[in-house]
Amino acid sequence: MTAPLTTDVHEARERYVSRAVSTPPIVVTGAEGARITADDGRTYLDFAGGIGCQNLGHGPADVVAAIHEQVDRYLHQCFMVGMYEPYVEVCRRLAELYPGGAGAYKSVLVNSGAEAVENAVKVARAATGRQAVIVFDRAFHGRTLLTMTMTSKVAYKRGFGPFAPEVYRAPVSIEGVRHLLKAEIDPESVACVVVEPVQGEGGFHPLPREFPAALKSLCEAHGILYVDDEVQAGVGRTGSVWAIEHYGVSPDLLVSGKSLGGGLPLAGVTGRAELMDAVHPGGLGGTFGGNPVACAAACVVLDTVATPEFRARAEQLGALMRGRLDTFATEVDGVTDVRGLGPMLAIELRDAALAAATVAAARAGGLLLLTCGLDGNVIRLLPPVTISEEDATLGLDILGASLREASH
Ligand code: PLP
Repeated sequence: MTAPLTTDVHEARERYVSRAVSTPPIVVTGAEGARITADDGRTYLDFAGGIGCQNLGHGPADVVAAIHEQVDRYLHQCFMVGMYEPYVEVCRRLAELYPGGAGAYKSVLVNSGAEAVENAVKVARAATGRQAVIVFDRAFHGRTLLTMTMTSKVAYKRGFGPFAPEVYRAPVSIEGVRHLLKAEIDPESVACVVVEPVQGEGGFHPLPREFPAALKSLCEAHGILYVDDEVQAGVGRTGSVWAIEHYGVSPDLLVSGKSLGGGLPLAGVTGRAELMDAVHPGGLGGTFGGNPVACAAACVVLDTVATPEFRARAEQLGALMRGRLDTFATEVDGVTDVRGLGPMLAIELRDAALAAATVAAARAGGLLLLTCGLDGNVIRLLPPVTISEEDATLGLDILGASLREASH
């Protein structure tokens, strides 16, 4: 039983919370596994996962146990004031799990994906002595000044200029990058490319099969670093620990976040030791970065997503979802594409109105969904990778019914 709320959250939200933060009309009172309970007493299947933060579901027992244990030891410490084991244990795991295998890898831990991307750019600039950053069409890297500049959607940028300098955008094609390096920016002044292995916010577009390897070679030819933004696609979302593993490419720097903390805020930059050590002592850090409680959770998360059992479960879930979505595409007028990688899948619809109507119908039917894409016409599915087959099937049933209802 969930205790009744004493505050009218809707009313208080209107009164005290900026309208700039968009919110759906539900008030959460509890969450467990793949389900969220709301103040209206209803239980919803959660295919939004706090925007990709619940690859292991809400409150996985072993993650919560590790959190409790750490809470009883100490909460905040600040790694720059006193070192502690959970921080170095996360960094050890990030090194051991680095895509591309053997070698020395080091990390810095921060609070959010955007902060991690900012730090990756700082590392790349310090290591190369160059300033320019290349990003891609449909990219999303965050909402801070630099990462907002790197992001490719006007809705996240309107009214917030001037933007950060030395950010250049290319289409997701090698010819496009080559052209940029001839027409706009001297390759000798480019510190890094920053690219998502599966573009998340931009509409769940996996990179074309040959693109990461070709981009890496182009980068190597010009001394440019390849920064892999795994904030949404990483930590088991696509089945492998990192999505770039599907492409067999080892990036120079890797950015993680979201599901890393198992529901607590934690993000990281990991990369070749000589790059991470190119920054002077004191050059990176932050008060809360690598909070001990979040790190205790992350150790369990990383241990879990690295197991063969997790990978097998992800492959089963991906196949189940893909099969059902492909069927919806043949049955429902208005479905224009099904795409993604493993269980990181999305369904593209004719327009934003149909996507919004589907999300509303699904909510009424007990399923929480999120849209994405430059046109807001893509429904992305981010259920826990650990969801039971029964719940996954139920959620997909509701999605199918909602698509049919909305498209009539
Ligand atoms: N990078 C990618 C690929 C993301 O999807 C996001 C968030 O959605 C970010 C960076 C920013 O992460 P955060 O919201 O934790 O700052």
